[in-house]
Amino acid sequence: MENGSKKVLKPMDSEQLREYGHRMVDFIADYYKTIEDFPVLSQVQPGYLHKLLPDSAPDHPETLDQVLDDVRSKILPGVTHWQSPSFFAYYPSNSSVAGFLGEMLSAGLGIVGFSWVTSPAATELEMIVLDWLAKLLNLPKEFMSKGNGGGVIQGSASEAVLVVLLAARDKALRSVGKNTLEKLVVYSSDQTHSALQKACQIAGIHPENCRVLETDASTNYALRPELFQEAVSRDLEAGLIPFFLCANVGTTSSTAVDPLAALGKIANSNEIWFHVDAAYAGSACICPEYRQYIDGVETADSFNMNAHKWFLTNFDCSLLWVKDQDSLTEALSTNPEFLKNKASQANLVVDYKDWQIPLGRRFRSLKLWMVLRLYGAETLKNYIRNHIKLATVFEQLVSQDPNFEIVTPRIFSLVCFRIVPAKNDEKKCNNQNRKLLDAVNSSGKLFISHTALSGKIVLRCAIGAPLTEEKHVKEAWKVIQDEASFLLHK
Ligand code: PLP
Repeated sequence: MENGSKKVLKPMDSEQLREYGHRMVDFIADYYKTIEDFPVLSQVQPGYLHKLLPDSAPDHPETLDQVLDDVRSKILPGVTHWQSPSFFAYYPSNSSVAGFLGEMLSAGLGIVGFSWVTSPAATELEMIVLDWLAKLLNLPKEFMSKGNGGGVIQGSASEAVLVVLLAARDKALRSVGKNTLEKLVVYSSDQTHSALQKACQIAGIHPENCRVLETDASTNYALRPELFQEAVSRDLEAGLIPFFLCANVGTTSSTAVDPLAALGKIANSNEIWFHVDAAYAGSACICPEYRQYIDGVETADSFNMNAHKWFLTNFDCSLLWVKDQDSLTEALSTNPEFLKNKASQANLVVDYKDWQIPLGRRFRSLKLWMVLRLYGAETLKNYIRNHIKLATVFEQLVSQDPNFEIVTPRIFSLVCFRIVPAKNDEKKCNNQNRKLLDAVNSSGKLFISHTALSGKIVLRCAIGAPLTEEKHVKEAWKVIQDEASFLLHK
């Protein structure tokens, strides 16, 4: 459309979308096809992109070709390829065709579903798919949306633990008096993700009231209920108020699983909010043979798993269930005039803005719905099982090499291993493992990460990228073995 000599922008031209959309899908499909040609871990130096891009935005339109050329030559070198079949670092962050299509649809509809009225389908689909998944996980019915419970999609496990901590904090303050914040105590093991520490900082929990309970190899880094009980008793005697426990099913370092039933019993009898973080391992619990790892979840007040980790749902999609939605909304709801509407005022609907930190929210349930429908529960279970089988392959390869040892027993698809110390020299051994990590990752052939357990530097091979096959696991092991023998014989 012409306006004098200036063109008026038509940012939602259907025909342009059709043409460019096809080209973008082709671009991404080609990327998936050739993903193995890239170094898995980006090898660029800090600041590399400033040297390649102009200092200011263009005044006039550029073409899609120009932009895609820059993506190829300037952006992709600075990308670490999380979807590469040889990505074994941290925990996986799965993409899939179904998840991608859901993202596209969500972007295309472009809604902001903070209150039911702003897009009823967004709220209702979210409630339905979270109920579907609760059923697959065999969560107790108190977590389902029929009663006072329900699920909600958060952006991350960090947001999930923050919102339940705020709910628990306000519930405790309502019961014991609003001037008692400095007496509230939070419990977790030393293996709990740092997301809890951040949540405590934001929630104003006094740092000296954060009990980080020690774990060790004797329980494979799971929290001992006796230790929790002792800490609670000591705090009660000191006049403090225990109010929140975060337990783990699948810790970040080594997939430790805390004994939920025993911990939950102590938490319940002391009116402590019990949150279960199953960010990574929760996905495995849809398989009947892995469901045992969340036995005891019936004692929890809230449960979280990241569908964006190991459940083929493109980032971000973190699933949180609570038994008592009122506790959440009492901590987080606001009701300004400009958002008032009949359905909300009449209390007929869920308004997810009151279950999260931000107001605005995306239509994220679409991608989880797509994943569940296009793949189906049985295929998803087999997807998980296949990764666990591949992890056993890697584990066996490590076990057969006398230069290496498995550090903690494998439960899911993470293998924790290291070069064994020569002559019990742990310091030298830690250095060797750090060097091995650097050598392996700078090869560009695979990407693994590390952690520390009882002072030992441990290498982590987390299998769970959607394209990973047995050959990638074997090739990865060969690179690790070759780099190790070079290091050890230098
Ligand atoms: N909890 C566990 C057990 C994790 O492994 C992670 C990340 O890997 C998190 C929490 C934090 O996840 P998010 O990035 O979704 O906040």
